Amino acid sequence: MIKFFEKDPYSPIQYVYEIDKILYKTRSQYQEIMVVENPYFGRMLILDGVVQFTEKDEFFYHEMLVHVLMHAHPEPKTIVVIGGGDGGAVREVLKHDTVEKLYFVEIDKEVIETSKRFFPTVSCEIDNEKVEIHNVDGAEFIKNHKGEFDIVIVDSTDIIGFAKSLFTVEFFKAVKEGLKEDGMFVTLSESLHFHKEMVVDVQKTMGLVFPIVDLYTAPIATYAGNWWTFSAASMKLPLRKIRRPIIAKTRYYSEEIHIQCFLPEKLYDKLLNNRLDW
Ligand code: SAM
Repeated sequence: MIKFFEKDPYSPIQYVYEIDKILYKTRSQYQEIMVVENPYFGRMLILDGVVQFTEKDEFFYHEMLVHVLMHAHPEPKTIVVIGGGDGGAVREVLKHDTVEKLYFVEIDKEVIETSKRFFPTVSCEIDNEKVEIHNVDGAEFIKNHKGEFDIVIVDSTDIIGFAKSLFTVEFFKAVKEGLKEDGMFVTLSESLHFHKEMVVDVQKTMGLVFPIVDLYTAPIATYAGNWWTFSAASMKLPLRKIRRPIIAKTRYYSEEIHIQCFLPEKLYDKLLNNRLDW
C-alpha cells in the first residue's frame, strides 16, 4: 500500500491517503494530473498534489456549487462554468430542463480528457449538445461577453497560480457585465475553519462590485478545513429564496439544505466585521 501526502499550500494540517494504485500520472502545460485509487473514496483526481474530488463524495461539492443558484434564479437558461474540467458541475447544471446553452471554460483540456477516461460518472454530460467547450482562461473568456448569462459558476483550483485571475476585482467586474439584469454568480471561497481571512477577502471584493453578496457552506470531507464556503452574488434577487420547483435528481441538495446552508445572519455579520472569536 502506497501513501499519498497531500501538498495543500494553505492547510495547517496534512492529509494522508492510502493508495491501492496510481492509475495515471502526467504533466500538462498547466499542472500535474494524477488519478489514484483509494480503498474508501474510490478514484480520486489530484492536481498539483491537491485532491480535487473523489468518486465517493464528489456529489456534495458539485450539487452545492450548482443547485443553490439554479433554484434561486427564476429561469436559468444560459450558464457559464469556468474551470470544473472534470465535468461534475456541467452534469449538475444539465439536470435543469430550463438550460439552453452551457459555456464550459476549462483552461486545461487534459483535465477534461483525463476525466472522460477515468471518471465516466462525473464527465458523462460533457459531450451534451448544449455544451460549448472553450479551452482558455476564464478571465479572458468573460471579457468578451456582455449581458448574456443567467448564471456564472466558477469551479477552479485553489486561489493560487493561474486560478488567481478568477478572484480579482477586474474579473468580478467582467462577470457583472457578462450577466443579464437578474443574473447570479457563485465561486468557491475555501474553508471557514482554516481560511477565514480569504473568505472575508473574497466576500469584500465581491461586495465592491455586486449589489447582493452572500455566503453558504457545505461539508466536504476531502477539502482542507471541511467547512467549505461558496461566495455568491446577485444583480437583483436575494439568493436565500427558492424560486423554482426543486429538481428530484439530487442526493444532498434539497429545499431544506437550501434554507439551512446560508450563514446565519448574525454570524455572517460578525465574520465580515472581524468579530469572530476564532
Ligand atoms: N472541485 C475542485 C475543487 O474545488 O478543488 C475543482 C475541480 S476542477 C478540476 C478545477 C479546474 O479549474 C482545473 O481543471 C483547472 O485547470 C481549472 N482552472 C483553474 N484556473 C482556471 C482559469 N483561470 N480559467 C479556466 N479554468 C481554470
